[in-house]
Amino acid sequence: MIEIKEISEEKLEENYRFRTYLKMHADEKILDEQFKELHNKYFKNFDCSKCRNCCKVLGVSMNEYELNSICKHYYLDDYKLKNEVLKENYGKYIAKPCPFLNKDNSCQIEECLPESCLDYPYTNKDERLFSLLAIVNNSKVCPVVYKILEDLKDLYGFKSK
Ligand code: SF4
Ligand code: SF4
Repeated sequence: MIEIKEISEEKLEENYRFRTYLKMHADEKILDEQFKELHNKYFKNFDCSKCRNCCKVLGVSMNEYELNSICKHYYLDDYKLKNEVLKENYGKYIAKPCPFLNKDNSCQIEECLPESCLDYPYTNKDERLFSLLAIVNNSKVCPVVYKILEDLKDLYGFKSK
């Protein structure tokens, strides 16, 4: 359905211009509904295990409570994870690429995912008008976000030039 491809600088520039266009023309609530509809449409049949771009490029982030739950659920050594695998950064434990990603693209902790994995790429959340910069940046990583922005451009009659 969606190819993962390197997003060109030109397309990225266009996406930043579209962000400005939405800031000036879009209604906050209507835009949220449009994002949700497209998010559901594309993720309904999309198998993220065929992609895993976010796991490779952005990595994983979890709080202490989530880390402890994962260790408990999978009988993992929390001391080793905290000190040798993950880095602590402002109360979050992070690693890039994600150390829980297997070579076959499966996820080692899929029964106990941290919120950041469950929520990414946030295109079904409220107040997207105020998060458009992050969304445009995510169009470099997530093929679904890329496609959602392309569909929104059509919907708003946004001309690329
Ligand atoms: S925990 Fe799983 S879903 Fe989350 S980043 Fe790692 S591999 Fe991806
Ligand atoms: S980058 Fe997007 S499509 Fe790819 S695995 Fe992550 S959420 Fe799924």
